[in-house]
Amino acid sequence: MLNIVLFGPPGAGKGTQSERLIEKYGLVHLSTGDLLRAEIAARTELGIRAAHKMDRGELVPDEIVIGMIRSKLRLNPESKGFIFDGFPRTVAQAQALDALLLEFDTSISVMLALEVEEEELVERLLHRGAVSGRADDQDVSIIENRIHVYNTKTAPIIEYYAAQGKHIEIPGSGQIEAIFSRLAAAVDSLCEVE
Ligand code: AMP
Repeated sequence: MLNIVLFGPPGAGKGTQSERLIEKYGLVHLSTGDLLRAEIAARTELGIRAAHKMDRGELVPDEIVIGMIRSKLRLNPESKGFIFDGFPRTVAQAQALDALLLEFDTSISVMLALEVEEEELVERLLHRGAVSGRADDQDVSIIENRIHVYNTKTAPIIEYYAAQGKHIEIPGSGQIEAIFSRLAAAVDSLCEVE
């Protein structure tokens, strides 16, 4: 199986690049942000709990997102692999993901980490907010909090995967197609090794 953690700060282009990677490699896309927004739209209890955190740019509790990922993995036993987008976001989530994948007799193949300057992230998110209407992309202080949360709680995951020899840095600025080529080259070089 090919299991990719597509990593990066908010606005790094994870969603956009995931779409292309899924198409090229036939993977199942698991975005915890999308799953949470679907829960909010369906007005579930879980969605209501999560919305309080998301509105502030805070992380929702680990057990909520881990539970969502567990059920999606169970629903896709025949998959060629998964792209994890926006998950894991804490070291505890990364550890839980390793344990979960072990239950399915598989593991993370690689972490592809998109690198983008902070100024560009804020610009991209504000643009996305204006186009999509997503509330957490429209307010500079919420965006800054999300980047702060990324730097303090999420970035330490890089070390977690680096220690396993699975971290690959990918420059995330420039044309979407050029960034995709870099990601695909990293995945292809991995497949050659296997
Ligand atoms: P995203 O669409 O990935 O930018 O996520 C939007 C928001 O959903 C984040 O700001 C968090 O509040 C929440 N969220 C998404 N994924 C996670 C996760 N893995 N852990 C905790 N909170 C998450």
